[in-house]
This record gives sequence, C-alpha cells and structure tokens, in this order.
Amino acid sequence: MGLDLVAIQKHLESERAQLLARAIPPPELAKGDEADLAATAQAREQSRWLENDQKVRLAQIDRVLARLAAGQYGICATCGKPIPSERLEAKPLAILCITCQSQSEKKKK
Ligand SMILES: [Zn+2]
Repeated sequence: MGLDLVAIQKHLESERAQLLARAIPPPELAKGDEADLAATAQAREQSRWLENDQKVRLAQIDRVLARLAAGQYGICATCGKPIPSERLEAKPLAILCITCQSQSEKKKK
C-alpha cells in the first residue's frame, strides 16, 4: 500500500486537537430585546448543530486513530477486505469498503 500512515496519523491528531480546542461551550448569551432573542435562539441552534457535527467528527477520528494503532487501518471494519488506497486518499476517515459503505447507507434509509 502506498499510504503514508504516519502522515495520516499526524493529520488526524492535529485535526482532533483543533476540534477539541474549538469545542468550548458557547459564551453566555446577553439579555436583549425581541430581535436579539431571535438572533440568540438562532445562534444557539447553530452552535448546537456545530457541536453535534464536531462530536461526530471527533468520534470518527478517534475510531480511525484506534484502527491505526491496532494496525487495522485500511481494512474494512465489516468484511475485513482491504480498502483501496484511492478511496482512503479521498476519504481518510473511511473504515468501510465501498460495498459495505453503500450497504450501511441503504440500511439507514
Ligand atoms: Zn467491506
């Protein structure tokens, strides 16, 4: 495999550190008039969405780092077949081969 696992690990660890640095609780929101309240509610929604997104991303990174540590990076977590390196280059967080990925996406729907 032509993958640079050390580079991938470093990249993931730095992204993980960035996510953790950003995952600070939203600042205490100031009291205001109606318009401010509406804007505040929107901002709160947005930050909640961001938090969830960050959590999902962090969980994905942790999962991939664990697989790297276990020497299982690039091996499909479902069928155990190697994931093509072109796929990993495009999607470094992929832990499933294309076949298993599309099957799990079908199940979700
Ligand atoms: Zn698979």
